[in-house]
Amino acid sequence: MSQVEKLLKYQEADSRLLKVEQKLNTSEERKKYVQARSYLTKASEKLDQIEAKAQELKSGIDRLNQRYNDLAETLKDFDHLDELVEEGNAISFYKRSAQSLAEDLKSLKSEINSLTASIKEQVDEYQALKKSVIAAQKEYPALQAAYKKCKENVQTEAEAIKKELASLAKDIDEDVLKKYQAKRSERVFPIICQLHGDVCPMCGTSLSIAEKENASSGKVIECENCHRFLYK
Ligand SMILES: [Zn+2]
Repeated sequence: MSQVEKLLKYQEADSRLLKVEQKLNTSEERKKYVQARSYLTKASEKLDQIEAKAQELKSGIDRLNQRYNDLAETLKDFDHLDELVEEGNAISFYKRSAQSLAEDLKSLKSEINSLTASIKEQVDEYQALKKSVIAAQKEYPALQAAYKKCKENVQTEAEAIKKELASLAKDIDEDVLKKYQAKRSERVFPIICQLHGDVCPMCGTSLSIAEKENASSGKVIECENCHRFLYK
């Protein structure tokens, strides 16, 4: 068997290995497992965000409580209003003061409403997330097991082909095989191709005069553009 024939045979087995490897990467089992894992990671980040938001809301409540206490303190001035007015203090001063308090209360009320809405929104978001995380966690072990099984099947298949490749490799020139493996690791495939006339069938580059002669004499040459092995 010529070197080209041996390489082609090796490449044929290698293409089956490639298919098996791709089968795992494109499998539904892997897709579902990766999706679930990524969802659970993101959910944990989301929970951290909700916790930070809850802290922020808590300090909002503290701030509003402080404002309420300040207003209550000011209201104490009105407890003895009768006496104060009798003592000759201008009633218009207390009227203005009462108006300003009423405005402060109004704005406090509106801030309480808006904070309450934010809290409700966070609670709803948290409840929804919790429900969906629990469901995802329940489903996760089965998805993980299915992916593991799929991976094991693929590995068994791949091992058999790798054995076949190792035995085929014994007949191939060591340097040629090294070059082949280097190209394979660069995801070039197929690696050895039959020339279309004097043109690389994969990238369309024409051969130089020297290469044409080499190819015609039966040598395996390399495409100067895509570096594949080419033969006549
Ligand atoms: Zn090429």
